[in-house]
Amino acid sequence: MGKASKDKRDIYYRKAKEEGWRARSAFKLLQIDEEFDIFRGVKRAVDLCAAPGSWSQVLSRKLYVPAKSSTESRDGDLPLIVAIDLQPMAPIDGVIQVQGDITNARTAEVVIKHFDGCKADLVVCDGAPDVTGLHDMDEFVQSQLILAALTIVTHVLRVGGKFVAKIFRGKDTSLLYSQLKLFFPYVTFAKPKSSRNSSIEAFAVCENYSPPEGFNQKDLYHLLEKVGTPCGSDNLDCSSGWLEGANKVYIPFLACGDLNGYDSDRSYPLPSSADGSSYQSLDPVQPPIAPPYKTAIELKKASSHVINCFTPVMISGSRISPGS
Ligand code: SAM
Repeated sequence: MGKASKDKRDIYYRKAKEEGWRARSAFKLLQIDEEFDIFRGVKRAVDLCAAPGSWSQVLSRKLYVPAKSSTESRDGDLPLIVAIDLQPMAPIDGVIQVQGDITNARTAEVVIKHFDGCKADLVVCDGAPDVTGLHDMDEFVQSQLILAALTIVTHVLRVGGKFVAKIFRGKDTSLLYSQLKLFFPYVTFAKPKSSRNSSIEAFAVCENYSPPEGFNQKDLYHLLEKVGTPCGSDNLDCSSGWLEGANKVYIPFLACGDLNGYDSDRSYPLPSSADGSSYQSLDPVQPPIAPPYKTAIELKKASSHVINCFTPVMISGSRISPGS
């Protein structure tokens, strides 16, 4: 797809470039904030699976930049934002970057170290594995990423704090909802307008972190497993009805973002000279600095070079070798 055609078909892609966001995902977090006011009072935030960094940019612009430009803020008062990803990211104002794996137990320790023992007010996670297109498989791998994020949450989030995580809607959605409800009294699954209807992604917005009494982080997986069995959790009412256990829940599902705003499933015409505006397709704000596909491209190039050098070529029926 050409640049202009992509600009036409994906209004959020075009807008992201115009507004200086590294990815269109920025709008998803902004629209979640419009609905849930997630940034209110946040002094410490963690962005899990942050590359190429548009959510970190949102955190920086919403929290760090206003505080930095306020004359009252001293350096010690400035919001602290820690971003983690397997991939390296280009720097962002006020964001501490950690290159690491969120499924690794040591990652939480690194975050805590940066917060100097204090806890975070907000943890966001937009993590996604490489999608295979097999929905069950993708949903499973995605749910593992959320559980890894939840593990970090139980170590770094303060009581009363918020957690926002990307989920893939599927047959285990109600189980995930019940698991999150063990730790948060308010859990809503939200679909921002900038997220395409055709995509199974949605976002779990979890408010007022309240771990069960006497909760020990070591018991997390045991506790979550119990929710997976009928009537496994005391928090769920399993007394009647045809649905059992984790399935016996109603999930609050909310569309968010201005209803009159842009629709991510629609094509919008490009500005034309007839409107008095001239259209020029912009380059992406910040291409990934070391994307995972880079090695694949290099390997492919190298192998095609090898093929070019050593494969005999047929010209007009006669067999010749390159270089001959
Ligand atoms: N929120 C980002 C933004 O706005 O720019 C986009 C995130 S992108 C959809 C998903 C990211 O998850 C990728 O950068 C990928 O490297 C990261 N990721 C996947 N598995 C991870 C893991 N186990 N640990 C850390 N990052 C991971």
